Amino acid sequence: MKRVKNRKNDVTVIAGCGRLGANLANTLSDEGESVIVIDKDRDSFRKLSPSFSGFFLVGDAAEMMLRNEADLNRAHSVIAVTNNDNSNIFIAQVAKEVYQVDKVIARLYEPERECVYQEFGIDTICPAVLSAHEVEKIMGTGPEVPES
Ligand code: AMP
Repeated sequence: MKRVKNRKNDVTVIAGCGRLGANLANTLSDEGESVIVIDKDRDSFRKLSPSFSGFFLVGDAAEMMLRNEADLNRAHSVIAVTNNDNSNIFIAQVAKEVYQVDKVIARLYEPERECVYQEFGIDTICPAVLSAHEVEKIMGTGPEVPES
């Protein structure tokens, strides 16, 4: 794949404006970040708060990555949180490999895949693993932390 040189790093691109994507978009926008959020379902953008000051694009985020419709040359971060692991992986790889985006995060429902992508410099979050850690914390059954 051909690499594209970064021009300016001032945008966060969020692929997927579902429960997680919209929440992140609203929070980052309120914090003053420039945000572009993409979803294939126009109705998803209803989750954006009235104070959201970024841009939204309707369409398949993976295809948009290939056509560079989200102006990835300007992105310092890409967060792939569609509800499809394959799309998230593809989006994350294009962002990292083609556009050399600094911070790339992909949500993966399938925990077995996590370590593979970390090797490519893609940070992954896995809701099942994170939830299990939280449950362990609440139950007090997680790994012991030494007292300071
Ligand atoms: P949630 O599971 O609530 O975080 O929602 C996931 C969001 O990802 C939904 O709003 C979907 O419409 C969206 N989505 C799924 N696949 C794609 C895709 N290929 N491109 C853009 N948005 C997508």
